[in-house]
Amino acid sequence: MFSLQEAGGAAIDRHERTSLDPDDWQALRKQGHRMLDDMFDHLQTLATKPVWQHAPSSARAKFDVPLPIEGSDLADVHAIFRDHILPYGSGNIHPGFMGWVQGGGTVTGMLAEMLTGGLNANLGGRDHMPIEVERQIIRWTREIFSFPETAGGIFLTGASQANFVAVQIARCRKLGRDVRATGLTDESRLVAYASSEVHGCVPRAFEMSGIGSDQLRRIAVNELGQIDIDALEQAILRDRQEGLVPFLVIGSAGTVNTGAVDDLTGLRHIADSYDLHFHVDGALGALGVLSPDLAHLFAGIGSCDSLAFDFHKWGQVPYDAGFLLVRDSEWQRQTFASDAAYLSRAASGLAGGDWWPCDYGPDLSRGFRALKTWFTLKTYGVKALGDAMSANCLLARELARRIEREPALKLLAPVALNIVCFAYVGASGTMPASVNSHIVERLHAEGCVAPSLTHLDGQPAIRAAIVNHRTRQTDMDALVRSVLTIGSQQDLPQC
Ligand SMILES: *Cc1c(COP(=O)(O)O)cnc(C)c1O
Repeated sequence: MFSLQEAGGAAIDRHERTSLDPDDWQALRKQGHRMLDDMFDHLQTLATKPVWQHAPSSARAKFDVPLPIEGSDLADVHAIFRDHILPYGSGNIHPGFMGWVQGGGTVTGMLAEMLTGGLNANLGGRDHMPIEVERQIIRWTREIFSFPETAGGIFLTGASQANFVAVQIARCRKLGRDVRATGLTDESRLVAYASSEVHGCVPRAFEMSGIGSDQLRRIAVNELGQIDIDALEQAILRDRQEGLVPFLVIGSAGTVNTGAVDDLTGLRHIADSYDLHFHVDGALGALGVLSPDLAHLFAGIGSCDSLAFDFHKWGQVPYDAGFLLVRDSEWQRQTFASDAAYLSRAASGLAGGDWWPCDYGPDLSRGFRALKTWFTLKTYGVKALGDAMSANCLLARELARRIEREPALKLLAPVALNIVCFAYVGASGTMPASVNSHIVERLHAEGCVAPSLTHLDGQPAIRAAIVNHRTRQTDMDALVRSVLTIGSQQDLPQC
């Protein structure tokens, strides 16, 4: 369709042509609109399709072909997407998806992604308007979490990176910026603290930082899944006595297994008493402050020194859109700024601008994650986003109540936010726990609802994490019904 002939018919010398733009913009326009409509159709009819289905080998084979030397028609390439990718997504946009903590995305976010792609901005630095959009998001996040004017922030891929960057910042605060050159020495002896329920990316951050995950003390939790503050204080005192250097405490605002929120005010107090950087992993929960119903659960969140959270989870911004908010942007500069000649700043012109994100985080080339976030916040407003989160929590509480009424089901953890962990125990309450992994696999294969499997105290648990703004009571009903049906089939005597 996009021939190498100019619209007027004049031939272009094949060897002189290097631009990848089309000659026939009219044809491109048509094809582009077709692709857009196709996606709208898909989103509009989501609920009629399976949450997930196994991609057949015929689809996988389309992605095991030789490197294309010559090009193909855009329409043909799109057809491969439509037939062999679109039907076999991971399902997180579907209302029946409740496995793991993943956002559902929105049409607004999708459209903004298209504009972002067209603009192809590099947000490493320099003087251009996209940078101002990212600064606007920083100002809004300050406002959301009641952070001071001195606070800075930065988009990163996700909370995994944001937690890692926070560890680097805390390390620099404790040892001074020289540690960037010297690295950790035998005298450094840093130790940090988080609860035993902290997300796996946090110990990994310690592995990547060179501090080592053994230096992250995993403190016991109470019956609500929150860090035990007394045990934390004792661990700090013990470490100090041994000559170690406590430098960081990490609270969770929504633990990955059960959605528990640590006592953030208590952690602030401990951090002040022992001169620790206080970081919060709010990947899945922190944006809950946007809901007036939920805000009280996060008391003290505005007092932390740094906060990792994900716009791509409860914020419904398309992947990826992780964020780190830092109480004093100078701490970011101390950790990351450097003066490479090829990045020298001018007083004016394109190389001007007084805020270059590359001084505030680990990346130089960076995408325009701020635009899809800005579009999302502007078009929906934080009230609607907060309402959707509140609705998710209501569904979770309803589900917990239903489970408690159902003799064949057992609730395995208190429901603090939007995550419900439960097990099928059978009419007599004696089903082997392993049946639950079978139930989850069957549910995935059936394609109506998709919870995930986790383990609580070593016991398999069906985990429903309700994050999607599209999920309704009917989806929760289907979950309970299907678990009971599949479970009762396992109850029957085996021949
Ligand atoms: C999802 C999650 C993370 C990791 O965030 P990514 O955006 O996936 O990198 C960290 N902590 C918690 C509590 C999470 O739920």
